[in-house]
Formats: sequence, C-alpha cells, structure tokens
Amino acid sequence: MSELEKLPYSYNSLEPFIDEETMKIHHDKHHQAYFDKFMNAIQGTEFEGKDVMDVLQNLNKVPESVRTAVKNNGGGHYHHSFFWKILQKDTSFSGPVADAITRKWGTLDAFKEEFKTIALRVFGSGWTWLVVNDKNELEIVNTSNQDSPISVGKKPILAIDVWEHAYYLKYQNKRADYITAFFNIINWNAVNELYQSTQ
Ligand code: MN
Repeated sequence: MSELEKLPYSYNSLEPFIDEETMKIHHDKHHQAYFDKFMNAIQGTEFEGKDVMDVLQNLNKVPESVRTAVKNNGGGHYHHSFFWKILQKDTSFSGPVADAITRKWGTLDAFKEEFKTIALRVFGSGWTWLVVNDKNELEIVNTSNQDSPISVGKKPILAIDVWEHAYYLKYQNKRADYITAFFNIINWNAVNELYQSTQ
C-alpha cells in the first residue's frame, strides 16, 4: 500500500504565519487520516491504485456504498496535498497569474480583499479556492467540508483551508487574521505553474 507523501518542506518553514505545531498535526494527523480512510474506501473497487484526481473527477462512477467515504476522504487527501504545494514564504507575485489577477481585480490588494471576504463566508468547515472556470475565467469559490472543485469541472490554482484545525492553535476564533497571514505564504511560483497548466 502506498504511503502519504511527506510535507515538501520542514514543519517550521511557514513560521510565523503558520506555526510548527499546527503543521505537524495538520499533516501527520489530519491529512494522514484522510489518506488512510481514502485508501481503505477505494480498496477492492476499480479505482484502487488510481490517481486521486481521477477518482474525484469521476465520483459518479464510484460504487454508491463507498461514494461518500471516497468524496470526503479522497477530497481531504487531494486538497491537503494541493494546499502544501501552494504554500511557501517569500515568492513574488509575478508571471502570467499575476497578469490575469491584475486584469480581473485591478490590483493584488483588491484580489486579496475579495478572497478574504469570500473566505470569511464559509460557514462551518470548508475551503476557499481561486479556480479557472469553464469559461477560462478566474473565479473565487467556496466549497463545504471536503467537496472538491475538481468534481464540478473547475481547475483550482490556489486554496486556503478554513477548517478550524488549520488555524485554531495559533489564531483561535480569528479566521480573518489567519487569512491575512496566509497572503504572506502563497507560493506564486506554484500558482503560476498550476495556472499555466490550465491554459
Ligand atoms: Mn485541513
């Protein structure tokens, strides 16, 4: 059975914006649990061994008896792997995605303001995404729980996890402060690669 990938950097490398303890628990406990439950749920189905993206894009073909478990845990696995990859300190807002964001929102600050406003609207647990939609436009969308934008044909290029487990140790109830901190650790190189892969 395959194993969960390690974080692509050390647990403390996003300090002080995301603390080491949160990263440890988030990856080693939460992500690991999604991964294990996903592997367990697809075991014995035709999707065993398939890439989690393929599975989430074809949820309607997953046997009904395990579909909810696959949606929740496959989503949890895929979203966390995605999230780790788009986090890094000290990259610069540049390249094609910066051009596209500036075309749509005018300025990076205006984009951040709208992204934050929308992320604050997530009720309960979920994620906020910057996606390329089916009209090839950038769009900010929320999803609940571990429902995936890729299950509805959207192509994510940036995400923030707004489940409380993502920020509660350091930020407690102050989700707005966590979102503001998040803007300091967007890996624009990775976001550019994701954006370019959609074009
Ligand atoms: Mn999470």
